[in-house]
Amino acid sequence: MEYSFVLTGNPNVGKTSLFNRLTRSFEHVGNWHGVTVDRVSKSAKFEGDDINIVDLPGFYSLTVHSFEEEISRDEILFGKYDALIYVCAADNLSRNLYLLLQLLELDVPVVVVVNMMDELYAVGKTIDAKKLGDALGVPVVLTSAKRGFDGGEIISAAVAESKKHRKRDLPYLRHLPIRSIYEKNKDGITKSKLKPLYASVKLLERDAFVESSVGSGHVAETRYVAETVRLRYEFIDSVTENIIIRDGKQSALNKASEALASFADKILLNKFLALPMFLLIMSGIFWITFGTIGSFFTDIIEKGINIAVESTESFLVKTNLPVWLIKLVCYGIIDGVGGVAAFLPQIVILFFFLAILEDSGYISRLAFMTDGLFEKIGLSGRAVFTMIMGFGCSATAVLTARGLDDEMMRNKTVVLTPFLPCSARLPVFTAVAGAFFGKMSVLAILGLYVLGAVVVVASAAIFESGKKLKSGEGSFVMEMPRYRIPTTERVLQILWSNAKTFLIKVGSIVLVLNVIIWILGNFSLTQGFIGAGSGDSILEQICTVISPIFAPLGFGNWRAVTALMSGLVAKEVVLSTVNSLGGVTAVFGDSLAAICFLVYTLLYVPCVATLGSIRKEAGTKWMIFGLCLQLGTAYVVTLAFRLTALAFSCGIGYGIAAVSFWAVAALLAALTKIIFEKRRCVRCDGCKHCG
Ligand code: GDP
Ligand code: MG
Repeated sequence: MEYSFVLTGNPNVGKTSLFNRLTRSFEHVGNWHGVTVDRVSKSAKFEGDDINIVDLPGFYSLTVHSFEEEISRDEILFGKYDALIYVCAADNLSRNLYLLLQLLELDVPVVVVVNMMDELYAVGKTIDAKKLGDALGVPVVLTSAKRGFDGGEIISAAVAESKKHRKRDLPYLRHLPIRSIYEKNKDGITKSKLKPLYASVKLLERDAFVESSVGSGHVAETRYVAETVRLRYEFIDSVTENIIIRDGKQSALNKASEALASFADKILLNKFLALPMFLLIMSGIFWITFGTIGSFFTDIIEKGINIAVESTESFLVKTNLPVWLIKLVCYGIIDGVGGVAAFLPQIVILFFFLAILEDSGYISRLAFMTDGLFEKIGLSGRAVFTMIMGFGCSATAVLTARGLDDEMMRNKTVVLTPFLPCSARLPVFTAVAGAFFGKMSVLAILGLYVLGAVVVVASAAIFESGKKLKSGEGSFVMEMPRYRIPTTERVLQILWSNAKTFLIKVGSIVLVLNVIIWILGNFSLTQGFIGAGSGDSILEQICTVISPIFAPLGFGNWRAVTALMSGLVAKEVVLSTVNSLGGVTAVFGDSLAAICFLVYTLLYVPCVATLGSIRKEAGTKWMIFGLCLQLGTAYVVTLAFRLTALAFSCGIGYGIAAVSFWAVAALLAALTKIIFEKRRCVRCDGCKHCG
């Protein structure tokens, strides 16, 4: 037999985790609102049956406000499935049941899965599943995607329910004038093909979608909007009374971790400490990634590559191969590509920490806190998610902006995200800064990350202050998740997928481009092979023409320009190009030129793939706007940076310090404003549980 089940529920209740467990796939799970922005489906075998499972974005009510919620609603209303698997979080049952009631009003087969039971068990409590199931008229399965998961029980319950679903009684509906609103809109409801009960209740709730589907019939009195909500919550209260029972003792470990979590909140989310703590944490991560451990591993790999180049060269010289081919293999391929691959350890370490920060719930708490500020500049906490993904890969991050419901906000997020340094820019930063600043390079790199953030905030603020690019009224709301200990499995998953993407890129596009650039840089149209840097190569001829444009920025030489051009295809190629054109010191000469080059690299168009993503999400016009914005901003900021540094004649160090100081001060001042922002409640139509 074939069955199709749909996983649904509020955001952050573990739907995607269960989806992964049930289908053993690897969708991105995040302790974050709205990670699943699209419908995902997979099939799995269970006891000889084919089970298709769909994972949907989380939402709070069938009356929807955003694009991702619309995906979920439409799937539930119009999709073909045998049963809904409704996922709740054990620690937030009351609020979770609100959406469930609306699904029960639809009268479709539903199985309720109470997830995160591990958290209740840890405090010596459990849920009376039978009592809950009887009260709601649905089967209830207790589970934990984290510990002791048993998918069989969920699937069996769903299969059984799809064959014969129970008669349900939702007593609160008797207090609503359902019959009369139905009679008054009978024709419209019949024509709309919506389920009569659902349509009637939603008409009472003044749901815009149902009202327009049913057509201009009889509009319900507004007092029923609040009344419906109140009745549902009243019913929930009666159902959940005494449903959580104590059956053991709270473990010592749990007591300790609860104390730790509330201590962490006191420090990490303290009005005045939140941002300094964030910067401190990030600095620590950077120091480990770029300063000590990361460079230790990178050094080892680089040494290995040097040995490989030398031994390959001495071996090939003995053969009869032409000199150019030997040089191509040794320097164009092994050295160039290996030089980029050497940064794998740093990328892995950075992602290790980001994975921990994200999965523990810290990043989403931070976004929750900053939501108010971002709203001021026409973005939202949701946009911050896309931007944080941008530290990984701009091209994929841009695609996650789809969940933003305000079009202007979405488009702006999409063109601003590439200002944040993706992991491909990281090898360039490390190698160039390392060559010129030695131990201080960690500071320089940290400064670049901060600069990226400042440019995003500043540009957004400028857009928002004008008329043309002002965001509309965003209806985004998010909730504060609790701290969770990240699972090893999940952290390894993130590490592996990032390492894999990086290595595939190095093995394909970086390799090919490197060979092409090496050939262009070592051959002349008239003389054939002439070696690198001799002055007449094809590449030098082309880039000499363009390079004067960059003279005011301090790196107006053909080598640097070539590196920038090659970076349009993929940022990883910038470094290998620099290496194959004589190395960092030969290309830049002095440290000011080098740091200006890094500032430019930080801000100019990340790669063609990102442009493609921008076009996909926001259209050609926005892509062109983004392209001009990025090239223009990169030029202006780099120029400003260089002039500031030059103004401090006593040395570039002071210049950088001054600029970084002002940048950090501006960012802190802006972010501290959030202290005065009022936080919005989650979209549960105002239940009493989340204030
Ligand atoms: P979704 O938004 O409903 O798809 O939720 P996710 O699957 O993305 O999970 C949200 C967060 O809850 C992640 O940090 C998960 O690791 C965590 N999580 C999911 N299931 C469980 C569970 O059974 N127990 C605990 N303790 N955490 C869970
Ligand atoms: Mg999800």
